[in-house]
Amino acid sequence: MKPVGRGFVIWLMAVAVCTVQPALAKKQAAAKKPATAASDERLHVSGARALTYVKDVVAFGMRPPGSPGQAKQQAYLRSKLKADNLEEDKFKAKTPVGEVEMTNFIAKYPGTTNDIIVISSHYDTLPSVKNFVGANDGGSSTALLLELANQLREHKRTGPAVWLVWFDGEEAFKTWTADDSTYGSRHLAAKWQQDGTLKRIKAFILADMIGDADLNVDHDGNSTPWLSDLVYKAASNLSRKSYFYAKDAPVEDDHIPFAKAGVPVVDLIDFTYGYNNVFWHTPEDTPDKLSANSLQIVGDVILETVRLLSTGQETQSKK
Ligand SMILES: [Zn+2]
Repeated sequence: MKPVGRGFVIWLMAVAVCTVQPALAKKQAAAKKPATAASDERLHVSGARALTYVKDVVAFGMRPPGSPGQAKQQAYLRSKLKADNLEEDKFKAKTPVGEVEMTNFIAKYPGTTNDIIVISSHYDTLPSVKNFVGANDGGSSTALLLELANQLREHKRTGPAVWLVWFDGEEAFKTWTADDSTYGSRHLAAKWQQDGTLKRIKAFILADMIGDADLNVDHDGNSTPWLSDLVYKAASNLSRKSYFYAKDAPVEDDHIPFAKAGVPVVDLIDFTYGYNNVFWHTPEDTPDKLSANSLQIVGDVILETVRLLSTGQETQSKK
């Protein structure tokens, strides 16, 4: 065995210092990065907390536009969203029962680009059925958006801004027609077309009737195919595919005015509420039919869809 010379040992030490130092510096820099800033961070909702919000709004009773229950719910939304950049979009709607004052609520969470992802729900309930409290129809998605607000408030994101919209006046006063329904979304789509906001909307996601304990989100035929596909990819990423798209059904809902204006839209709706939809638009639409798990699944899939849209992964599903 031949011992290595002294000069070689010094050279070896120099090489070691030169290669180890930059690696160490890199590691330290990585550790300093804030944990909340990553655009690809996967966020989750609390389904249990969303379910408590459903019970809170149901306790206000019937909540059609202009009702005392609706006024209480509006005060509740203001209190839950007081830390946010909340906008109230007031307007007068011509309805079969005369002119009715309505208010859309909009909460805005900044991103780093000029684009906007809209996540929406209606918060009014059906006026025409006595004792209808809309736990699932109106309540579930209203509550889920409040829980999404909690997540968006706490986690700074890169990519498009996210705007949460609670529409008023989705339900018909008499019978569902194009003129007697979706008052809030028709008003806001027209307003945003005029002021140029509509052009900035990269995706419009609507949730409606998503709290049913027996969750089966329909594949809506009026939604934009690439955005529907992206939601399915999000569900697949979270191993939640079996809750999505077993049934094809074209649905008329608050996404239609935005679809007509050329915005990519998707409606997440489970339109089988009880066997043969027996609980839909009846006084039996109460919180005991819902589950925290269903709210969790839809909330998490929406946030995963937002993540895919924010990291440029929607391009693969656009054909
Ligand atoms: Zn309804």
